[in-house]
Amino acid sequence: MLAEIKGLNEECGVFAIWGHEKAAEVTYYGLHALQHRGQEGAGIVTTDRESLHLHKGIGLINEVFSEGQFNKLNGNAAIGHVRYATAGGGGYENVQPLLFRSQKDSLAIAHNGNLVNAYGLKQQLEAQGSILQTSSDTEVIAHLIKRSGQIELEDAIKSALSMVKGAYSLTILTETQLFVAVDPKGLRPLSLGRLGDAWVVSSETCAFDVTGAEYVREVEPGELITISDAGLHTQRFSSTLERSLCSMEYVYFSRPDSNLNGQNVHASRKRMGKVLAQEAPIEADVVTGVPDSSISAAIGFSEASGIPYELGLIKNRYVGRTFIQPSQELREQGVKMKLSAVRGIVEGKRVVMVDDSIVRGTTSKRIVRMLKEAGATEVHVRIASPPIQNPCFYGIDTSTTSELIAANHSIEEMRELIEADSLSFLTVEGLEDCIVGDNDTMTHGICKACFTGNYPTEIYPDTVLPAYKC
Ligand code: SF4
Repeated sequence: MLAEIKGLNEECGVFAIWGHEKAAEVTYYGLHALQHRGQEGAGIVTTDRESLHLHKGIGLINEVFSEGQFNKLNGNAAIGHVRYATAGGGGYENVQPLLFRSQKDSLAIAHNGNLVNAYGLKQQLEAQGSILQTSSDTEVIAHLIKRSGQIELEDAIKSALSMVKGAYSLTILTETQLFVAVDPKGLRPLSLGRLGDAWVVSSETCAFDVTGAEYVREVEPGELITISDAGLHTQRFSSTLERSLCSMEYVYFSRPDSNLNGQNVHASRKRMGKVLAQEAPIEADVVTGVPDSSISAAIGFSEASGIPYELGLIKNRYVGRTFIQPSQELREQGVKMKLSAVRGIVEGKRVVMVDDSIVRGTTSKRIVRMLKEAGATEVHVRIASPPIQNPCFYGIDTSTTSELIAANHSIEEMRELIEADSLSFLTVEGLEDCIVGDNDTMTHGICKACFTGNYPTEIYPDTVLPAYKC
């Protein structure tokens, strides 16, 4: 679905490279492939072994960078970031990578995820005299590294990571080293690849395909990788815990051509559609998916049910950026601008409308109405994930509990509110089966907390949602 109008917003994307003469350019293309993970800011930091060079700005990657900037981004190693932020967490100073200059060991950090104990750590740091320059939780990591008292930077990073809790897929660049780490639960994805002799790291493997890199493996939960001219060195900073990779990455966030933890996203979504058809069968004439992220699940539903898949909804690809829309009314107009029902397909038909998720429900209602106005005789809504009843503290803006329709209404009440003829969701067991399958949950376990309320890490009373998002 269209994230910015649905109320379910992507988090961030990171990309890094070590040992490539066009490091900044490759990072630019890598970030371009990750643009769906954040559209509000982008930045790249490079190292020429003597100093770090930064360019960042607010906007899409191609708005932030022009050709001239690459002449200043010298060096054969880089980290980059695309960012989504809520209003409270916006602003140039929060755009990553964050760069901290010092006489010895300057460092730049790019972070995907959200720390659940950032608020408490910030209070401690401020009490000890630290002056924080951003409202981002990522800055906490830099201060903890600098204050650790460890001589070796690797040890300082391990010390900092032992204090932070929550979700983080991190890249840290100094003049002479690149560090890569994933939180002990592996909440956010991060993959390692090779581009010729260079090492590359990306939130999603789709950026490897775009840059010509080859996938090597996942960065493991609790792993710290150090890359330098001496090569790649790996170690653990945390004992092995059961993995809790965000299931919404499979449901909605990641690109269908990406592989997460060895599983193709499109194939996983098709399985969700198939299981949904088995769990919630319905008699109908056509199946249609809400573009783009629901199309794979709709194809799976069609294959399992035998009901033909049709393009009953199309997306207008040429509308401008409309995510800065404060009011509900404007959001709803945004839906109209971006989606159209295809009258020639749905008129006189009983339609199964497959969507990946429902957050507030206003978008679903609008699309159901759109299909009926185009002549659909019945609209049966099938959601390829369980009802979202709890907020996410790990970097996904799923809205607060009071805004989540499934947290406040029964399924029948929701059906009435969105004006559908029937409404069903994929079960939590069905979702888990589609993603984890026969794999071991130690290595392939998923986070389902927004559906179940069982968070895989501690949540603190002062864990905050918007301002400290990645
Ligand atoms: S709570 Fe939901 S959105 Fe957040 S990490 Fe877990 S599965 Fe993903």
